[in-house]
Amino acid sequence: ATSSQSLVAFGQQHVTKGLGRLTEAVMSKGEGSYVSFEDGRRMLDFSCGIGVTNLGHCHPKVSRAAADQCMNLVHGQCSISFHGPYLRLIEKLLPIMPDPSLDSFFVWTSGSEAIEASLKMARMITGRQNIITMQGGYHGRTFGAMAVTKSKTSYSEGQFPLMPGVFAIPFPYWHQFGLPPSTSESELVRQALYQLDLVLKQQTAPRDTAAMLIEPVLGEGGYVQAPAPFLQGLREVCDKHGILLIVDEVQSGFGRTGKYFNIEYSNVRPDIMTMAKGLANGFPLSVVVSRKELTDKLKPGSLGGTYAGNAVSCAAAVAVANAFREEQVLENVGARSKELIATLSSLRSDPDVGSSIVDVRGQGLMVAVEFASPLYSAHDPALDLSAPKNLATRVAKRCMEKGLLILTTSVYEVIRFIPPLNISEDDLKKGCEIFAASLKEVVR
Ligand code: PMP
Repeated sequence: ATSSQSLVAFGQQHVTKGLGRLTEAVMSKGEGSYVSFEDGRRMLDFSCGIGVTNLGHCHPKVSRAAADQCMNLVHGQCSISFHGPYLRLIEKLLPIMPDPSLDSFFVWTSGSEAIEASLKMARMITGRQNIITMQGGYHGRTFGAMAVTKSKTSYSEGQFPLMPGVFAIPFPYWHQFGLPPSTSESELVRQALYQLDLVLKQQTAPRDTAAMLIEPVLGEGGYVQAPAPFLQGLREVCDKHGILLIVDEVQSGFGRTGKYFNIEYSNVRPDIMTMAKGLANGFPLSVVVSRKELTDKLKPGSLGGTYAGNAVSCAAAVAVANAFREEQVLENVGARSKELIATLSSLRSDPDVGSSIVDVRGQGLMVAVEFASPLYSAHDPALDLSAPKNLATRVAKRCMEKGLLILTTSVYEVIRFIPPLNISEDDLKKGCEIFAASLKEVVR
């Protein structure tokens, strides 16, 4: 038998260096809120494979539905015919859409592909070319998605020219304006909407602008909720100029923030919405939804993809939708969210670690702790430049050593908490204890 160590060595030799990794270990099993590794370690999983396995690893109803589908039809190519799981999935999605106008679906495979499709659709529907996106936004790694991604240069470094016709405005997050964390929401919204006005007057005229693209919660850009007045402001500007509003719910959707879709908090109607990740709990699947009135303008054949709407993934997604209702998942998110935010907030008054935390924020189980950031401190003489560097990365690493798999996000010092949506009270508490202990050890 191959030892765990020699497997790691094999991986290091033959897996491309282009992939980064959090740990040099070989994951072998996922069970509910836990993952195990070949070397015998078992970790509580607050990463959910980057917000994907939201019902826990290998949820029995989801795995069973996929296994059953495997024995019936694995690949029912969507440009050849309809297939059952594809249609049953749409039937499950229709009643939970954030707006009843969203009634026309295209099912694809990854979040990036959903973004590509949404950009192409916006161009084809409006006959316009340009896209306004958010500074700090993340939408994927394919060329179009990379062009509208503005969260880290490491994703696009060495890849220019990207898709042209992309303009970015700041997301209402204090870092984007070099303002302190205490800045009021209304001030951030005012500044961001002002920048939008300027872009439409100085860079891309409304008649050239097909769409605005936004994550209602910045994901890879730092876990920041877009204030409702900002989203409502975007909607107004879009309505005024016939620009489409594309809402990317790939990470924030499917119950992650306590409602099926985060955009429900602001009551804003998307023209196009993308979802993926939690949708099929780990089976590759994404969805782009819009209004039939708009998508009827598309030419048949203008969208497609060999594996788009894979039957096994669709069957898994149907089981996910059923489990959400049968197991009162959203109710659990509400209860666990309060506990998580209260526990993390209480650390702010802890004599050992309180001073290193500048923000605790989030909705549902999409929660972040932000530490003082050297990047920011460098621009603010009032802040302590001796703040420890790479605190978030070091804390996440210490957490892993103690059995908690947890991720950082953004170019700032942010740790994100995305545990399974059906996590137990005990496991949540255990994860928070490991986080607090790790933070204390690192800042000591
Ligand atoms: N949009 C958002 C908001 C995301 O968080 C991600 C993935 N992190 C994507 C798009 C891209 O999805 P994928 O990695 O499945 O291509």
